[in-house]
Amino acid sequence: MRWSQTYIPTLREAPADAELISHQLMLRGGYIRKLASGVYLYLPLMQRVIDKFSQIVRDEMNAAGALEITMSVLCPAEIWQESGRYETAGKEQMRMKDRRNHEMVLCGTHEESVTTLIKGEVKSYRQLPMNLYQIQVKFRDEIRPRFGLMRGREFIMKDAYSFDATEESFEVSYGKMVNAYFNIFRRAGIEAVKVESDTGAMGGKAAHEFMFLVDTNAGEEVIMFCDKCDYAANSEKATFVDPNKPTLDTEMKGMETVDTPGAATIEEVTFFLKVESTRLAKTLMYMADGEPVAAMIRGDRDLNEIKLKNALGAIELEMATPDQVQQYTSAPVGFAGPIGLKEVKILVDPLVAELKNFVVGANENEKHIVNVNIDRDFKADLVVDLSLAAGEDGCPNCDAGQLICKSGIEVGNTFMLGTKYSDALGAKFLDEKGAEQLIIMGSYGIGITRTPQAALEKYCDDKGIIWPKSIAPYLVEIIPLKPGDQTQMEAAEKIYNDLEAAGLDVLMDDREERPGVKFNDADLIGLPIRITIGDKSLKDGNVELKARCEKDFALVPVGDIVGAVKQLAERLN
Ligand code: ATP
Ligand code: MG
Repeated sequence: MRWSQTYIPTLREAPADAELISHQLMLRGGYIRKLASGVYLYLPLMQRVIDKFSQIVRDEMNAAGALEITMSVLCPAEIWQESGRYETAGKEQMRMKDRRNHEMVLCGTHEESVTTLIKGEVKSYRQLPMNLYQIQVKFRDEIRPRFGLMRGREFIMKDAYSFDATEESFEVSYGKMVNAYFNIFRRAGIEAVKVESDTGAMGGKAAHEFMFLVDTNAGEEVIMFCDKCDYAANSEKATFVDPNKPTLDTEMKGMETVDTPGAATIEEVTFFLKVESTRLAKTLMYMADGEPVAAMIRGDRDLNEIKLKNALGAIELEMATPDQVQQYTSAPVGFAGPIGLKEVKILVDPLVAELKNFVVGANENEKHIVNVNIDRDFKADLVVDLSLAAGEDGCPNCDAGQLICKSGIEVGNTFMLGTKYSDALGAKFLDEKGAEQLIIMGSYGIGITRTPQAALEKYCDDKGIIWPKSIAPYLVEIIPLKPGDQTQMEAAEKIYNDLEAAGLDVLMDDREERPGVKFNDADLIGLPIRITIGDKSLKDGNVELKARCEKDFALVPVGDIVGAVKQLAERLN
């Protein structure tokens, strides 16, 4: 491709609302443009990135035996009502009525569609296992679309769905997808790590996420790793061994209400009452689907809202407003406690349940209660793990390790769905004995538009993008310094044709621009290899060959360029 024949509108400055370096580079490099919040248009360079990454995904999915299909984005609301997710999808789902007044939705995922597709038609165990996938547009009206392609409202996903007759067979199918995912990310030059994750609104029994670890503020997920074993989990899911066990009193003491003037925060209360934060229980007020809930965790811990939400089976969970806190506890924020709460469900973390003689809020302004004991002084509706794992906690998997936090971007995930959708939508088969069974399902996503942008958080420098070679829009950029010069152009054309004939993707910057402009643009769009053709080297029959990620260039005779480019590409990521 010649620069003059394609459309690469590079920008000197990134628009002010692009926070992340990867988002800025996508805009500045002429890869994407924004049409509306969370809605982007993919320009010719981006289209090639999408095509390249999609092809890697396709190859590996096909190699794993999955079959490519395409399902519609538009979908009748009925099947979402049947699965129960019409309720739980909430405002993230775009909904509308068609001209016949039928309720329709735009799919943000396709479990309902694919289950409807196979139900009644896949009837025998002989037709299983099966895996269907697509690379398709998704729509989610994300509450906070941001970071460009990283969290869009319209985006492209690869989604696959497996169907199995038995648990053993499902384990094999799941393993094949996990394996395919490692191959995909490795081939794309993006190292992804597999971590345990929460199953969220998807349902099912277990799930994993594939994370691209970054040091920048782009990592929306916190991942806990063990420093000794291979434990890795999203912080939403992570469990831990408590490193701060307080020494407990042997006897229960008498409960007492004490004044704590001006002390509302944990720091203030521990200071005022001279107790360790591990001897104090925070009572946090939430509204779960409109009902008030009190969640109690130990003073030194943070609450994990996902664990709370799962424990309640809630669809919407929000912190109570100061007014709601006042309404349900009769006190301002900072003084909530379990004693005397009426019509409020109380959930207690096990680290609180094991305490003796602890401190809680008194549901009265500037008062706390000391020497409180669970069961004697109040009852929990449920004792359940509600604590967020933190760095330096003990590893839940091995005796020796400590947890370490890293931030990452989720580029893919795999869910064990079990029979949630086959049950809700009636996807059944006859087993070997002729008995009717529900199909066991899995679902597997990869962000086709998110992943390449995520890669740029790591693969860039202060001049621009440095693409991994397998997802770069072109491998090589040729820059003839003077396109008007016949000798230079002859060499440029020969190199261009030779490289294309060798099956390599080439972009030639044939514009009549100053060398500085061309070099800046070349660094910005980030093709892995650059060939510069100038008078000085060309008079000895040479051109300059340089990797985008390296400083030095090599002089290569025009006739040897194909071999030299292949050799250079070989050692690049
Ligand atoms: P997240 O936690 O980041 O919202 P998710 O759990 O909602 O992701 P899935 O529904 O499993 O993600 O989607 C599969 C993949 O699609 C994700 O791993 C991610 O790569 C991509 N993806 C999800 N939401 C978006 C989005 N809003 N914009 C771009 N890509 C997305
Ligand atoms: Mg999401």
